[in-house]
Amino acid sequence: MQPILKSSKLNNVCYDIRGPVLAHARQMEDEGHRIIKLNIGNPAPFGFGAPEEIVQDVIHNLPDASGYSESKGLFAARKAIMHYTQGKNIPGVQIDDIFIGNGVSELIVMAMNALLNNGDQVLVPAPDYPLWTAAVSLSGGTPRHYLCDEQSGWLPDLKDIENKITANTRGIVVINPNNPTGALYPREILEGIIEIARHHGLIIFADEIYDKVLYDGNEHTSIASLADDVLFVTFNGLSKNYRSCGYRAGWMVVSGQKKHAGDYIEGLNMLASMRLCANVPGQFAIQTALGGYQSINDLVAPTGRLCRQRDLAWELLTDIPGVTCYKPKGAMYLFPRLDPAMYPIQDDQQFILELLIEEKVLLVQGTGFNWPHPDHLRVVFLPNADDLTESIGRIARFLDGYRKK
Ligand code: PLP
Repeated sequence: MQPILKSSKLNNVCYDIRGPVLAHARQMEDEGHRIIKLNIGNPAPFGFGAPEEIVQDVIHNLPDASGYSESKGLFAARKAIMHYTQGKNIPGVQIDDIFIGNGVSELIVMAMNALLNNGDQVLVPAPDYPLWTAAVSLSGGTPRHYLCDEQSGWLPDLKDIENKITANTRGIVVINPNNPTGALYPREILEGIIEIARHHGLIIFADEIYDKVLYDGNEHTSIASLADDVLFVTFNGLSKNYRSCGYRAGWMVVSGQKKHAGDYIEGLNMLASMRLCANVPGQFAIQTALGGYQSINDLVAPTGRLCRQRDLAWELLTDIPGVTCYKPKGAMYLFPRLDPAMYPIQDDQQFILELLIEEKVLLVQGTGFNWPHPDHLRVVFLPNADDLTESIGRIARFLDGYRKK
């Protein structure tokens, strides 16, 4: 019998966050090992549960949530999102410009599928949240990675963006605050990106899912608030700001230069209709989440658990010889660099597999985020202080052994 092959559409698609090393970790757990997981940005299992009022709201509305909603989402939820965009100074957003999805993930794939023809290119940051690269490839497009510069605090390199634009470039992805680096972009950089997009007629895809997970009193500027003559698609949701990944509630907002984008928007409408609607119980949580008391602020305050864990993990990691790390201004990740002179890693996936086997700590390798060199790791700082101290101690021990090999 002929082997059953996967579609060639998947040939260039890669999502290492849930890749082969995770499968190995699961197997080790089945064998009875306790693995400390610093690999996935899923707050709830680490005691960062969804705010109680959101949970109660979902429970309360469950009896009314068994039917399909409108394809683009519940009116009340979209109205709340519309107010949210107003609060962020994004101009001219109407209810119809808002699409609710099963998390931002579904909408990223939808936004790429609706846009790209074979050979079209999208500029994606390196490092990136790898779903962006995967979604461009799956949609028949070609991701072209522009560099974010570690020396400048991981800011996008505007010259590199310019250099990578071709006649086939359709859009620029901006992840701000950034996963995996934790960078937060200042207004000048955002304006620089807009200028490039304006000049070349590109769409800006702004992934702002961590816009409330900000430390040290930093504030977030939505790139779509800075112009109305460029097309923006801005993504956000409940997964991170409201620790509700499992409710699968995300949205995208089309704004700016909409009048030339009618055909693209029709494509988005078509894809939204084809999947009928997003998870309705999750949609019910949106209005409650966006209004009133924002408990994330307590977690990111200097005395808040998330901020304290960022500080602890950053201090412990940067105490390790040959390890340097930008201190994140937002999100829930550290992206440390291992000095290649001390740690001449050839294959970083193999490296984190060995770390897993020897020390029972699970990370994701930097190349899994489309970083071109095997010299970075991503560390999630959601586990509690004891687990962070224990696991980073084990990483230090492993690196010590690696250096002496
Ligand atoms: N965008 C970024 C930058 C992320 O880090 C994640 C999840 O980690 C997502 C999107 C996916 O979010 P959702 O749970 O809404 O699908």
